Amino acid sequence: MPDTESVNNINFDVAIIGTGVVGCAMARHFTLQGAEVLVLEKAADILDGASKGNSAILHTGFDAPPGSLEQSCIQSGYEEYLQIKDKLNLPVLETGALVVAWNSAEVEKLDGIVDRAKANGVWDTQILTTRQLMAKQPGLSRRAVAAVEVPGEFVIDPWTTPYTYLIQAIENGAVVLRNAEVLAGTFDQHRWTIESTQGKFTSKTIINCAGLYGDMLDDIFLGRSGFQIHPRKGQFLVFDKSAARLIDSIILPVPDEITKGVVVCRTIFGNLLVGPTAEDQHSRDEAAVDSETLRSLYNRALEIVPELAGHGVTATYAGIRPASEFKDYCVQAHNDKNYISVGGIRSTGLSAALGIASYVYGLYEEFGDQHNPRESIVYPDVLPLAECQLRDWSKPGNGGIVCHCELVTRREIEQALEGPLAVNSLSGLKRRTRATMGRCQGFYCSAELGELCASRLQLSISEAIE
Ligand SMILES: Cc1cc2nc3c(=O)[nH]c(=O)nc-3n(C[C@H](O)[C@H](O)[C@H](O)COP(=O)(O)OP(=O)(O)OC[C@H]3O[C@@H](n4cnc5c(N)ncnc54)[C@H](O)[C@@H]3O)c2cc1C
Repeated sequence: MPDTESVNNINFDVAIIGTGVVGCAMARHFTLQGAEVLVLEKAADILDGASKGNSAILHTGFDAPPGSLEQSCIQSGYEEYLQIKDKLNLPVLETGALVVAWNSAEVEKLDGIVDRAKANGVWDTQILTTRQLMAKQPGLSRRAVAAVEVPGEFVIDPWTTPYTYLIQAIENGAVVLRNAEVLAGTFDQHRWTIESTQGKFTSKTIINCAGLYGDMLDDIFLGRSGFQIHPRKGQFLVFDKSAARLIDSIILPVPDEITKGVVVCRTIFGNLLVGPTAEDQHSRDEAAVDSETLRSLYNRALEIVPELAGHGVTATYAGIRPASEFKDYCVQAHNDKNYISVGGIRSTGLSAALGIASYVYGLYEEFGDQHNPRESIVYPDVLPLAECQLRDWSKPGNGGIVCHCELVTRREIEQALEGPLAVNSLSGLKRRTRATMGRCQGFYCSAELGELCASRLQLSISEAIE
């Protein structure tokens, strides 16, 4: 990766702002299409916004509004993910989903859910009777009445996935700068000059993928935004790995107008997840959990899967959706300014990111910009973290296990501290390796981790333990 000074002198084709899952997928797509790509991220590490905390479901789009941009991006993103996953060593937990009706009013909505799925090209859904549902998912409460089965809904890795997209972009030529907050920009009718906390850069086109700050970025560059972000928090409970065997499918509620509702599903790391809530708030970055909400999530979880009462909660977290006043994504191309705004990617961005990137590239081509797709594409070798993959702890020469709950090896920690996207924050290290994210929440490994990271992350051991 070139140093910041030499990057200042490159005339980039495209500057992508933000390294949430959307920015990472965008960087990958534009780079593979042959564009010279600069990526600017204000945080110390990638995935520091909305993409930090989600449910990690790879949606089919069965319930998206038919004909919406969201629906078509989910569908194309889903297909591309399944096409590229093996080459990129990305995992999939093929759980399928059940949209469960808990009363007669909800049962009446099931036909509509199947009809919408068909309208969205998802043909393999079917309604299950109580008996069929119980046979399929005996861990569910006996209060469940019926369900729509959606076989194609899967669980993926929320962090390694976008990380791999971005690493592939870098290994094929993209330049990524972190701690580079974009502050201002001027357009001279041909090129943009972007001012950031890491200096000035020039690029022909800007793609705003700033997630929770997308409208503010539009204000900076265009003087106005076509949408406003309305942050919507979602809190989660993570049950211990012992709970994962209670449920095979993703358990979805019959959705309402605002939210997909509280989901119970396995995680790719072997836990059981319950959440998210949907709480509108003003803050774009305050992602605290509160005990009252967690208590009601816990009670709801036990209503859905009664046996969860015998299992512990390992962790809690919250994520913030970049919702806007619109139901659909807000993707707007400003041809006169070489500027594309990719905003309001609220609840489905992990699934749709590859589809969004491909759609945006089409808009970009309408600016008259054409590149030659890279002929020999580099595929990165990223360490897998999913329970269903061959993990490093089972391979020789790994230096021993540091985090015993999540089986994270010394070699995995050391690799995360190296390379073009070396972690530079403790939260980044957690997302990159899962160290401290297990049952003891770092009680046993924080001291060793602190020692390993102290010089690289400029952390004291006590900070590492925090
Ligand atoms: C509770 C919850 C559950 C969800 N569940 C799912 C799910 O199961 N499946 C699914 O597909 N999707 C899910 N999602 C949705 C998905 O997580 C989001 O759609 C996605 O993360 C949005 O990504 P983004 O890249 O648009 O934004 P972000 O992740 O917010 O990324 C924007 C980036 O831009 C950076 N940035 C901002 N301003 C600047 C600046 N001035 N200069 C430089 N950088 C800047 C930020 O630091 C950030 O890193 C869920 C979301 C939440 C919150």
